[in-house]
Amino acid sequence: MSLVIAEGLTKTYRAGDVEVPAIKGADFVIAPASFVAFVGPSGSGKSTLLNMIGCLDHPTAGKLSVLGTDIATLDRRAAADFRGKNIGFIFQDFNLVPVLTAYENIEYPLIMVQEWPAAKRREQVMRLLKAVGMESQADKRPDQMSGGQKQRVAVARALVSNAKMVLADEPTANLDHDTAHHVIDLMKQMRDEFGTTFIFSTHDPKIMAEAETTYTLEDGHVLSRVHHAQAAHA
Ligand code: ADP
Ligand code: MG
Repeated sequence: MSLVIAEGLTKTYRAGDVEVPAIKGADFVIAPASFVAFVGPSGSGKSTLLNMIGCLDHPTAGKLSVLGTDIATLDRRAAADFRGKNIGFIFQDFNLVPVLTAYENIEYPLIMVQEWPAAKRREQVMRLLKAVGMESQADKRPDQMSGGQKQRVAVARALVSNAKMVLADEPTANLDHDTAHHVIDLMKQMRDEFGTTFIFSTHDPKIMAEAETTYTLEDGHVLSRVHHAQAAHA
């Protein structure tokens, strides 16, 4: 089964009378528990593509099936519900809530979307804090964390609702080389442990090297697909 199927996927933005074609008929499939990268220059459509897969933005034309659901059939509310249950997000600038601790940032989706009971919530947050190596930093706020620590918390937050798929838009762009390596290794570890699919938009050669499949985007076209040797997945 494919996790994501795109056929002739098209997105055209409209700014007044001007049409901006951002994605021009993309075809691709993404397998479960995979590490997939969309690479390409700035403006090539990477974020637009990720936003459509994440049901944050509607395709203009074509087909997009995510986890077996034709996302064109989802209205705003259904899309939000679908996202909350199935999809985690990681951003370039971390997007943590500044007034909340590491613990509270990770817990946030469970309170806002899932309404988990308190004991189950605590157990899950502790499990994720441990998984990303931030157990001892649970009470720190974002301004007391390094960039790498913030992104670890963001990875935990993306996984806390047991998302089947994580969308990471240039997640290492604001990290130094070594820290980026650690965060990528962590995401791969999480993929191996939880079977979560990670879909990246990136310029980072390290992510391209780690990805099993790399799609190159140029000016709204998915140009090529490189399939690397599949990493062992338990
Ligand atoms: P990337 O993430 O690869 O830098 P984007 O997906 O952000 O590329 O943008 C692709 C194209 O779509 C660009 O030409 C950009 O200017 C345009 N675009 C993106 N978002 C919008 C929007 N909300 N309204 C109008 N044009 C947009
Ligand atoms: Mg972008």
